[in-house]
Amino acid sequence: MRLILLGPPGAGKGTQAKRLEESRGLVQLSTGDMLRAAVASGSPLGQQAKRVMEAGELMPDEIIIDMIAERIGQPDCRNGFVLDGFPRTTRQAAALDEMLGRKRAALDAVIELTVDEDALIERISGRFSCAKCGAGYHEKYKRPKVDGVCDVCGSTEFSRRKDDNAETVAARLEAYRGQTAPILPYYQERSLLRRVDGMADMNEVTRQIEAALAAL
Ligand code: AMP
Repeated sequence: MRLILLGPPGAGKGTQAKRLEESRGLVQLSTGDMLRAAVASGSPLGQQAKRVMEAGELMPDEIIIDMIAERIGQPDCRNGFVLDGFPRTTRQAAALDEMLGRKRAALDAVIELTVDEDALIERISGRFSCAKCGAGYHEKYKRPKVDGVCDVCGSTEFSRRKDDNAETVAARLEAYRGQTAPILPYYQERSLLRRVDGMADMNEVTRQIEAALAAL
């Protein structure tokens, strides 16, 4: 199965993509995670990504398209994947179609996580993750069972994304509205779009996604 999760920053794409990875064996393809790995490596691409991400802007299409094309071509993606954070522009959406067309593969669904923008700031500003295994947490909605200790790996070190501050989030939302939301009609016209209430409780969102996939 090949899926896209669409929605503004903080809609829960990463959380739900991880769950689909566990429940359906799909590979999570997060362009944001790939760029953060490039930033951590200090490569020239990482240095560019650091500037762009901290400004809340989008990386150039060609760079992102090449990155995803390379990743989708790897053997582990043959059994299906869930795209998280890609495509983010109409050009990226068209490039994805070409890539899949060459492989004679098709998308099964595009799931839009709909959210109330006012709630996003609170969601985003409270989130943090385990510095060792990457498990995601939230100050209000998902605290570790034992304060300061990761539920998954026991690490006591946590980190926050540098672009999860109010100013950058405002720019990221603007990029979503201006450049990403316009691709929704593109998928709607092809009857691929399914809407799920991203404001519901995390488990309920997962349930709604599974129901939408079961109905395909
Ligand atoms: P995310 O983790 O998906 O919220 O992405 C974090 C940041 O990485 C975004 O704000 C962009 O600066 C950059 N980024 C991630 N995916 C893309 C993409 N598909 N196109 C352009 N920039 C991206």
